[in-house]
Amino acid sequence: MKSATANRRMTLLVMRDAQHSVKQIHLSKPLMIAVPAAAVLSLSGLVLALQAHSSQVVSQLEQKVTLENMKNLQLQSSVNSREQSIERLQNEIIKLSSQAKDMQQKMEHVDELEQQLQQFIDKHSTSMSTDDSTDKVSSLSWDASEHVGGEFIAVHENEMLDLAQETKDDFQEMQELLKTMESQVPHTLKKAQETQTQISGNPTLWPTTSTVMTSSFGYRTDPFTGKAAFHAGIDIAGENGGPVYAAGAGKVVTAEESGARGRYVIIEHPNGLQTWYMHLSKIQVDVGDSVDKGEQIALLGSTGRSTGPHLHFQVVKKDKPVNPLPYIRSANSEYN
Ligand SMILES: [Zn+2]
Repeated sequence: MKSATANRRMTLLVMRDAQHSVKQIHLSKPLMIAVPAAAVLSLSGLVLALQAHSSQVVSQLEQKVTLENMKNLQLQSSVNSREQSIERLQNEIIKLSSQAKDMQQKMEHVDELEQQLQQFIDKHSTSMSTDDSTDKVSSLSWDASEHVGGEFIAVHENEMLDLAQETKDDFQEMQELLKTMESQVPHTLKKAQETQTQISGNPTLWPTTSTVMTSSFGYRTDPFTGKAAFHAGIDIAGENGGPVYAAGAGKVVTAEESGARGRYVIIEHPNGLQTWYMHLSKIQVDVGDSVDKGEQIALLGSTGRSTGPHLHFQVVKKDKPVNPLPYIRSANSEYN
């Protein structure tokens, strides 16, 4: 009986560490079995509860993840569209800057042309009365090195603002240039037109097809009286009815017939010179006509005080006849 009872009891020795005493726990055998069993049962209950809980948490998490994914997708698409618009913007700015560059080149070209025009005017307007030397026509006094920023090679996003600003500056600069040019170019053109008129108005064209001179300007023996006399022009021999050309552009101020001169024409040129054409067989212009340089004005003849078909050609400067040769000789070389 004792042994049976003793057999039913079991002793547990609980040893913690050196400082603590060993504890003895006496338990009956069924209890020894029951405790772990209860523990196992409660543990499995706990595990089941935990599993239930975790699956709930997992499904919640899954929902959250799904939501997040959707948000991410939305975000991604908005990022994509933003990237596209940035790209578009970049392209726009690149286009703009290349336009600005083209425009600058055009401006420089115009400036160059204007300077050429100025040189042209300076070269040909020596006889013109220039108002003042400060009246230079070149309107572009801009130093290109200051404003041409070189090639735009690559554009990164952080450079966009700089580029945009630069482009804006370029356009502003060009607007100012355009404004200056708008006021200056008409002036330049007017001057050029005046110069052109002066040039075409210079009586430099040989007035006949024949170049045989029979009498020069100055003192000579008069062919009629044999006495010394002043010859106010040059005589060019030619065929009766041959063409007579205006030596320069101008206005016909006289077209008539009078004794010694025969049929004659006087053209007034813009620079104050006059050219006289005498002994004509036929006059082909009227007083008041504007004639171009080289325009046929009459037919050569022998009217008036003349010994044979020839043109008496005379240049009058400030009411005084001057030697025509310095005028028409220079231009004659252009035609020969
Ligand atoms: Zn003569």
